[in-house]
Amino acid sequence: MKRKNCCVLGRILLALILTALWIAPASADEKTLLAAIDEHTGNCKVVSQKIFDYKELGQQEFKSSALLKEELTKLGYKVTGDLKVPADLVKDGIAKTAFKAEMAGNGPGPTVTLMLEYDALANGHACGHNLIATSGLMAAAGLAKVMKDTPGRVFVIGTPDEERGSLGGGKVALLEGGHFDGSDVVFITHDADRWSLDQRFLAMKRANFTFKGKSAHAAAAPHKGINALRGVLLTFNCVDNLREHLRQDVRIHGIVTKGGAVVNVVPELAQAEFACRALDTATMENAYTKIVNCAKAAELGTGATLEFKEPRVALKATVAVPALLGTVRDNLKTLGITDNQFKDFEELASSDLGMVSYSYPTVNLWFKIAREGTALHSDEFREAASSDDGWKSAVIAGKAVALSAYNMLTNPAKLKAVQDGFKEAKAKEGK
Ligand SMILES: [Zn+2]
Repeated sequence: MKRKNCCVLGRILLALILTALWIAPASADEKTLLAAIDEHTGNCKVVSQKIFDYKELGQQEFKSSALLKEELTKLGYKVTGDLKVPADLVKDGIAKTAFKAEMAGNGPGPTVTLMLEYDALANGHACGHNLIATSGLMAAAGLAKVMKDTPGRVFVIGTPDEERGSLGGGKVALLEGGHFDGSDVVFITHDADRWSLDQRFLAMKRANFTFKGKSAHAAAAPHKGINALRGVLLTFNCVDNLREHLRQDVRIHGIVTKGGAVVNVVPELAQAEFACRALDTATMENAYTKIVNCAKAAELGTGATLEFKEPRVALKATVAVPALLGTVRDNLKTLGITDNQFKDFEELASSDLGMVSYSYPTVNLWFKIAREGTALHSDEFREAASSDDGWKSAVIAGKAVALSAYNMLTNPAKLKAVQDGFKEAKAKEGK
């Protein structure tokens, strides 16, 4: 009994010590890192506004990437542009607008990677990627200051074309090009209408079906034709019958891209495109197979020949790593963002970020720049992306990333917990 009491007391004491450690002020190195960020915020804000004003679309972010490369070079990073990526994934300028910056520490150790986005939309920086770029730049500035006394290395990867490139976009091309090789943990931020560590992005894969039939006069001799449009329609019906038996998070949405030329001819060619999504990659793949089977059934049922080829790229779902989220959350707390300020999202979509997070433990920190309910890609959100309040949050996000990256470089136990958690999270996929 006594032993048990002692054990309980010991646990309480340990919990108290841990709590004290948790609210402990930053270490000397962390203070240096934060001070370096404070020193750079003025300049980074100018950089953010310039990128905001450039508002370059995906694969055309030449000025934005040149500016970021210049700033990283000034910070002491070794910067490489013109990155090699697989030829069939290079559309226009990915290779030109992507970049990689590296800085080595004082000896061997882990590699932390920061991702920067900087592409705009037709209505300007309505997704606020100028703040993603510059919160990352601030984190890079903080880490640059302490790396001479820190093991490991830092990668800063400029990942263009997020908006247009949800399939085969910047990150996918850079991953396949091997530019993330050696990363231990990857960080990115994104501005939003809330603070959140919700990591959910849906896995997504597209299916393009072509049905080839035989034309004939639709009134005089329909019996001599094979209706390709029926193949498409039957596929849709079959997919709709599936829905009853799919998990709630599975999303299937399709369009008819070709349905015939004129009404008095039996359509000889019809095409449809579907997108299939789910919260985890295995579930998405499972539903996807069923969609393809629907098209095969339609081929059999109509006699129209089906043409289908697996797409070159599919997006994986993001993998959440609890230990990594915990580290970022603890650092946010020291920066004044409290638990009740965090909120998950009600609506979910897909991103090329999923591909990175499937390969390496990755965290995306959502930081609040606009009132709750403000939609990404709206004009209101665009204004928030160049506002003073938005900037204040970007600074906090940059600091939280820098501190968390520093924790991964200097605390092997924390890094191991992240790596173990990553394996566990992936093993749970589809279950
Ligand atoms: Zn975005």
